[in-house]
Amino acid sequence: MRLVAVAVPVPFLDLLTYNVPDSLAMPPIGARVRVPVGTRTLTGCVVRHDALVEVGTDVKDIAEALDCEPLLPQSIVELCRWVAEYYVAGIGDALAVAMPPGARRKGSAFRKQRIAALSAMGLDQGLTPRQGAALQILSAAPAGLPTSDLRERGVTPAVLAGLVKRGLVVMRDERDERDPFERAAMTDVVPDANRELTDEQERAAGELFALADAAQFRVALLHGVTGSGKTEIYLRLADRVRRSGRQVLLMVPEIALTPSMTALVRGAFGDRVAIQHSALSTGERHDQWHRIRRGEVDLVIGTRSAVFAPLDRLGLIVVDEEHDSSYKQEETPRYHGRDVAIMRASREHALVVLGSATPSMESYHNAATGKYVRITLERRVLDRPLAAVRLVNMRTEYSDEGPEVVISRDLAAAIGERLACGDQALVLLNRRGYSTAVFCRQCGDTFECPNCSVSLTVHRARHGLHGSNEASRGGWRARCHYCNYSVLVPTACRKCAAPYLEHAGFGTERIEEHLRERFPEARIGRVDRDSVRRKGALTQILSKFAARELDVLVGTQMIAKGHDFPGVTLVGVISADVGLGLADFRASERSFQLLTQVAGRAGRGERTGEAIVQTLYPDHYSIQLACRQDYPAFFEREVVYRRGMRYPPFFALINGVVRGRSFEDAMQQAREIVRRLEPATAIGRFTILGPAPAPLGRLRGEHRVQFFLKGTRRSDMRNALMQVVADMPEIRRRLTIDVDPLSVL
Ligand code: ADP
Ligand code: ZN
Repeated sequence: MRLVAVAVPVPFLDLLTYNVPDSLAMPPIGARVRVPVGTRTLTGCVVRHDALVEVGTDVKDIAEALDCEPLLPQSIVELCRWVAEYYVAGIGDALAVAMPPGARRKGSAFRKQRIAALSAMGLDQGLTPRQGAALQILSAAPAGLPTSDLRERGVTPAVLAGLVKRGLVVMRDERDERDPFERAAMTDVVPDANRELTDEQERAAGELFALADAAQFRVALLHGVTGSGKTEIYLRLADRVRRSGRQVLLMVPEIALTPSMTALVRGAFGDRVAIQHSALSTGERHDQWHRIRRGEVDLVIGTRSAVFAPLDRLGLIVVDEEHDSSYKQEETPRYHGRDVAIMRASREHALVVLGSATPSMESYHNAATGKYVRITLERRVLDRPLAAVRLVNMRTEYSDEGPEVVISRDLAAAIGERLACGDQALVLLNRRGYSTAVFCRQCGDTFECPNCSVSLTVHRARHGLHGSNEASRGGWRARCHYCNYSVLVPTACRKCAAPYLEHAGFGTERIEEHLRERFPEARIGRVDRDSVRRKGALTQILSKFAARELDVLVGTQMIAKGHDFPGVTLVGVISADVGLGLADFRASERSFQLLTQVAGRAGRGERTGEAIVQTLYPDHYSIQLACRQDYPAFFEREVVYRRGMRYPPFFALINGVVRGRSFEDAMQQAREIVRRLEPATAIGRFTILGPAPAPLGRLRGEHRVQFFLKGTRRSDMRNALMQVVADMPEIRRRLTIDVDPLSVL
């Protein structure tokens, strides 16, 4: 028998062993094969050649080999094995992240694009309305359209087949190289190759060059204040690595939020760049992936999943804004892109550069203890000062102006000044929606999610489905941000029929409305997950703001990230305390990062910037220190708390959440898991906390109970968990394991 171990896309499933029948050549590691699993045949990936089986086991044959060359490089297969083990996920789940889109569908990864085009002749009599509509779409595209695009526009394969039969449409296959940069590039950023680096940049670049030249695994933390010119250093370092014949992976939290980075990279590397992120269409991602696989690029820019890009001469990984929580995937496999990057670099002898103005506690700790090389940029380029930050105590504001105040006197005056002189302003409130709740003033009835233990967020109703126009009726819609349940808010109370429904709390929509009333002449835009739902909407708003067609941009944390808008001289923070109250040990860290980052958006041009921060807790250390933009002081303070409470970076955490139809059911299962884990704590030196109801006690109709493992050796905790999961196979579909959790709700 010739045995291979195959990963299949079934959650939690381990490697399965198959025989390669004599009629087939031995498929290499990383090749896809079709294999029988239960009653189905699935596409899997060969992970090992040295599979073993017990004597007498019935080993099934591989049904079909799809690739004779490995689709995934062996290094990526091995990286995925590490991810599966470290994050206690199934190997199939881990490999699925690394696969190009469409690879699961039989053979499709190598299939060319199908293009449908109008034929020169044909009988167009007696067409169905859908066929007619399809012809109309195609008549506007003389070169034809990919069938996948047509499907998105409602033209089904059956409709196309009917048209082909009549001779009205012809099909052809094409290898189509789309250019996703066309959409990404919004600003005409011209990299200035001859620009002189500042002394600090020069020194930092010199140190990094030396590390890159050594061609060994190292991690460097580039801790540079906002506006210190980190991007320029990345680009020069990337260029140097490319010249030495190796490749570069540049990771960013969100492509749409870093369009200038993308444009700069494109300017510097031309065609030898690929882009990888989830907002690309399947076809685009597929093209880009195969360009990388064919070795046609020197640099890949992308979001967290780009860490699995099939580069085979990797010399450098840059993780920009390394503290950003979007590097953590909040679904299985729950990996952290930065940490996988470090693991990958150590296997491939590459340099990792973690860049941030507000490093994660973990990374700064590693730099402080000498595990990482620390490189610091203390000043902004061209000696531009950091924005001066002013705190507004909202308690004083409420007592002077009443409880309805949203925008303080100071902030309103400052916005007015900016509008008068043509400068721009950013206004941050890290909470979307119009209000946080509606309630009846007479009976107190509120709108809660029937599926989750949260109250519904109220939004201005938009044009609804089926042509109804909620907004024109001045309506409100209450929506659950977890399960998306929504309900129109009636004009009178559902319970007591009193017409006194009132809004409590406020979100970005209300701020936008408020500013429009207050400054009717201002051009105002909004950036949050609701306003940028439509594809391309985010790029559009940001480019309008960059082109100074907007004066004020209101938004959630999306406006705090990495942007470089030289026209912004004012940043307002509406509620600096959002997030501070959360029962989460990272709350202070997150608040500090957000405030420091958003204040860092001001004064990046020639004129000095200012930030005004409204808060109810002006004495809280994370707010105080963010105002001084004093990262080292924040770290020193926070680290005492983390050490005392035995939290990361001193102790590792694993979070387990058990879901159940009833609370008792979930609790009982969680107790059973904990009971079975207990004996291992003696040997493995870790502790178990819980089980206890999760802060979000109910989610999508299921009850949630959580527990934590806390210790200094992750492997001990993981092994114990894996043993329990192996002993309780039925628990897998109800248990979520999160290793190094970022959010524990
Ligand atoms: P960071 O990412 O550290 O916040 P950026 O890389 O966005 O900072 O740089 C801030 C601004 O300074 C950008 O507009 C950039 O073009 C500019 N810049 C960077 N380096 C220099 C330099 N050596 N001389 C002049 N301007 C620079
Ligand atoms: Zn819900």
